[in-house]
Amino acid sequence: MAAKRHPTVPVVVGHVTIGGDAPVVVQSMTNTDTADVEATVAQVAELARAGSELVRITVNNEAAARAVPAIRERLDAMGVNVPLVGDFHFNGARLLEKYAECAQALAKYRINPGNVGSGETRDAQFAAMIEKAIEHGKAVRIGVNWGSLDKQLVARMMDENARAAEPLEADAMTREIMVASALESAARAEALGLGRDRIVLSCKMSGVQDLIAVYEMLASRSDYALHLGLTEAGMGTKGVVASTAALAVLLQQGIGDTVRVSLTPEPGGDRTTEVKVAQQILQAMELRDFTPQVIACPGCGRTTSTYFQQLARDIQDFLDASMPRWRTRYPGVETLSVAVMGCVVNGPGESRHADIGISLPGTGEQPAAPVYVDGVKRVTLKGEGIAAEFQEIVEEYVRQRFGSG
Ligand code: SF4
Repeated sequence: MAAKRHPTVPVVVGHVTIGGDAPVVVQSMTNTDTADVEATVAQVAELARAGSELVRITVNNEAAARAVPAIRERLDAMGVNVPLVGDFHFNGARLLEKYAECAQALAKYRINPGNVGSGETRDAQFAAMIEKAIEHGKAVRIGVNWGSLDKQLVARMMDENARAAEPLEADAMTREIMVASALESAARAEALGLGRDRIVLSCKMSGVQDLIAVYEMLASRSDYALHLGLTEAGMGTKGVVASTAALAVLLQQGIGDTVRVSLTPEPGGDRTTEVKVAQQILQAMELRDFTPQVIACPGCGRTTSTYFQQLARDIQDFLDASMPRWRTRYPGVETLSVAVMGCVVNGPGESRHADIGISLPGTGEQPAAPVYVDGVKRVTLKGEGIAAEFQEIVEEYVRQRFGSG
């Protein structure tokens, strides 16, 4: 089991709590033009239905700021109450000042302290955004990104490091600057009057080891709620693996209150993949339960036909398709485990450990598939209808075990 959570101050964002004893929250971000209300509403709804508990949208210009209240209204009318987070950069202070309805419609503002101007302007703009958060009663994520570090802070800390008796190496110094940027900005926000219970911190980096080191430092030096995510994780398998590696190490130490998996979608690809990956990471780490799990063996020379792969696929599709119906009707069904195993070697053993398991006949074995329910052999299926009959058994099991009446 994962270690006890690193204690953080809970932050309420709309109806969602980040930090404290709350479960780790899944969030995502749209890639539509926020000014395109229709497209943004559609994508936010899609992400929310996939399980994103917060959705961030960029508020990068006046057209986007004008669109935010309409986006919120349309989502509410559709019954999609996912809190929206506004991503602000150089012009954030001006947009929040000019568009009060936008400032009010958002549940949280994300501010990158390296992207709010420079010199006195930077301090004034940062202060103006924090004051807007206080005025509207909103939470703020102070999100440091190593691609856009505060240049003055970098110069100051590099200078200090150069004069130190034992200067740090460049990598270690970058990490120190990231953490200092987050903590100094948070301290400035608190000095301006924003409560600690309104502040979430993130320090996003694209290297797995860098990310782990920075969050360990943040967790050991503060009790702010922490948003985890590898920035620019990349595409496909590489992005999934790098994000999983970084997040798993931190989550195992109890570090992290909300996560985002920043995958670059394939052209025309499904934006909800990042939500599903984040859920899978949390479920694999036994921190949350989102959907029934299929335990399937990888297959080997004992399963020379594709029948076994097809059945595992059919069962997963059946569970996925059934979940929207089951979720409301059968509370707790997301903890269900189903084993689909390829032959008698590990099949019966693994099947017994799952809630429901089927062990298919390997090549040369008797054409029979024993089914185990709660560890006890229930029936042996044979013939063409194995998949359909097995699905009926799963449906019946769900009804009996998770049905309220
Ligand atoms: S359960 Fe059987 S088919 Fe599956 S990997 Fe093991 S030996 Fe191969």
